[in-house]
Amino acid sequence: MRPGKMLREVLRTGLKKPVTVLYPKEKLDLPEHFRGKLKFNPEKCIGCKLCMKDCPTNAIVINQVGEKQFEAAIDLGKCIYCAQCVDSCLKKALEYTKEVELAQLDAQKLKVVFGAEIKSDTKKTSL
Ligand code: SF4
Ligand code: SF4
Repeated sequence: MRPGKMLREVLRTGLKKPVTVLYPKEKLDLPEHFRGKLKFNPEKCIGCKLCMKDCPTNAIVINQVGEKQFEAAIDLGKCIYCAQCVDSCLKKALEYTKEVELAQLDAQKLKVVFGAEIKSDTKKTSL
């Protein structure tokens, strides 16, 4: 590269804002439809279990907890955030969020139950 051209390139890139961010101090601006932690809306669920059947890692289990009442037990440690369950759910009872900071030292804390009573080995959560 000729020195003149090189100098122009150095100035051009040197004046640009870096594309990287200082995470975790700065947060990434995640795009729409980013596949983060799942959210379950129990009032929409009809218990068809299509989400369960289609999940490639068996990360989601739908349990009936009352008449027309269902809970979703999701193992976030098994979930690969593919959103197949979201696509499979005809009632739109499942959706993804932009929540990505899910790291845990205790694997049991990755087992969450949405929309039901707290179980001994799982943690109830609401998003
Ligand atoms: S596919 Fe949707 S409606 Fe059917 S059990 Fe799963 S969450 Fe409920
Ligand atoms: S996002 Fe994928 S892996 Fe996670 S519970 Fe849904 S279908 Fe299973």
